[in-house]
Amino acid sequence: MIAIIVEDRCTNCNACVVVCPTNVLDAGPGIPVIARQLDCQTCFMCELYCPHDAIYVAPDCDHPVTVDAQAIAGSGLLGEFRRLHGWDEWADDPRFTNEHWQMEQVFLRARAMAQAGNM
Ligand code: SF4
Ligand code: SF4
Repeated sequence: MIAIIVEDRCTNCNACVVVCPTNVLDAGPGIPVIARQLDCQTCFMCELYCPHDAIYVAPDCDHPVTVDAQAIAGSGLLGEFRRLHGWDEWADDPRFTNEHWQMEQVFLRARAMAQAGNM
């Protein structure tokens, strides 16, 4: 679930607002507002499309996670999803091929829903 948008990295481009499939974010006058956090489906699209690595999506699909902006900035986690998927400046780096490991919880949930006949 989306946890934070780090203000001092964000350029207010609103790419994250546009790509979010469940309309979690509102374009602000400043940085986007996480307006409907519980609607987040943990798809990581906002992280993937943020060109400035300003968004952290926590892998927990079910519960909001509180993170500190300074701590997350120092953690190396910002931009990790984009990097591990070999996007943009990472496209020619052989260390970063397409990794789906962070989607594990999403795929497990989709499988459980399919097995329960909810899809
Ligand atoms: S992780 Fe997906 S659903 Fe959640 S805010 Fe980002 S784009 Fe929207
Ligand atoms: S995509 Fe990144 S830089 Fe653009 S508005 Fe969203 S958080 Fe800010």
